[in-house]
Amino acid sequence: MQRPLPWFWIGLLLLILVVPTPAGRLLLDLVGGLTLTLLGLPLLLGTAGFLTWQIRQRRLRTCPACGFRAIGLEQCPACGSPFDPSSGLGGGAPAGAPGVDASTVTIDVEVIQDSD
Ligand SMILES: [Zn+2]
Repeated sequence: MQRPLPWFWIGLLLLILVVPTPAGRLLLDLVGGLTLTLLGLPLLLGTAGFLTWQIRQRRLRTCPACGFRAIGLEQCPACGSPFDPSSGLGGGAPAGAPGVDASTVTIDVEVIQDSD
């Protein structure tokens, strides 16, 4: 059994849309506003999220000892060493031990072979 199409309501809707009445104009405005909201809201939320992420990243501080990154703490939660106050902006690569420039350090590796 097939349900008959609601021709009456379809005709009424077309009449409202086609004939320039205040009701038709209101309906068109409503549909336009809804479409604009649906299209604009994700864009707005995405922009807000991106800006929030950028601001948060600038506040991240990098631990000079272990490279752990955290926000709003005076001490590193991973190793306990105090954060460098100047490392709040930019961050950069984590250094090795405090006070040691990693680019001037030579690391000697000794190979130890186990004899059975
Ligand atoms: Zn640390």
